[in-house]
Amino acid sequence: MQGKGIRLVTVLTATLALALTACGGGGGNQLSGGGNEVQVDQNAQFEPGTTMANLKQAGTIRIGTKFDQPLFGLKGLDGKPQGFDVEIAKIIAGKLGIAPERIEWVEAPSKTREEVIEQNRVDMVVATYTINDARKQRISFAGPYYQAGQDIMVKSDNTQITGPESLRPTGAKVCSVTGSTPAEKIKEYVDEANLVLFDVYSKCADALRTGQVQAVTTDNVILLGLVDQSGGQFKMVDKPFTQEPYGIGIKKGDVKFCEFIDQTLTQASQDGSYAKAWQSTAGKVAPQTPPLPQLDTCS
Ligand code: GLU
Repeated sequence: MQGKGIRLVTVLTATLALALTACGGGGGNQLSGGGNEVQVDQNAQFEPGTTMANLKQAGTIRIGTKFDQPLFGLKGLDGKPQGFDVEIAKIIAGKLGIAPERIEWVEAPSKTREEVIEQNRVDMVVATYTINDARKQRISFAGPYYQAGQDIMVKSDNTQITGPESLRPTGAKVCSVTGSTPAEKIKEYVDEANLVLFDVYSKCADALRTGQVQAVTTDNVILLGLVDQSGGQFKMVDKPFTQEPYGIGIKKGDVKFCEFIDQTLTQASQDGSYAKAWQSTAGKVAPQTPPLPQLDTCS
């Protein structure tokens, strides 16, 4: 079961060697903030008036992420979220000269993500956030920094649901999250009366456990975390049927900030910090570090 999950997230592995063999960046302090130590670039210099200069000057950054998604963004006992998204966000903050302790974490469930950016309640969102045109009407994306795919999770003893096509014939009730791309896509395969939508995926996992729904659908890596957490109760169908490139949401049109984030991601993939971020989080369940995808042009 775990092997299936691993296969999903390791489609491309060509740049792994590069990521692992490159050496660490210079300068800056090592400060820990629950999770990995990251480079904090105290000497970072930015053009006055840019978002980077303003954040560096403020010495703090507000970052939207998930609080209930194991492996990507899960709030720990210390009240701070942990996961791959969190580590990516910490790397970016570090390049701005902001230590992990100085990050203000804001919970950003799927349907609130555009809103919190538009209303300037966060400076960026790193939250399993698929880049798409509808969202780009309202915000801009840096990245992508990871590529997921939509899949289905069922109870371990379920043999009837083998892919999206088997949802309608089996009359399955299917759970997903409001404002997510999987909740839209699954409407091709499920009548709306059988679609159950919550605000967060942990509620879908509860509904699967109690038998209120027979399937949960979202990105494979989110499901992988829920399967891992289920102690053998759940399994993944392992037939990804979409592409979900994860971007970092920022204020619409902030091209300089987008370019700065893209540069940071490129450096992180070269200096090993991207691999380290993966290995200490999602890599515990899916050991193969993915390559950084080809970055989009900032606009
Ligand atoms: N990546 C998908 C999305 O952005 C699903 C995951 C999520 O809801 O966070 O909608």
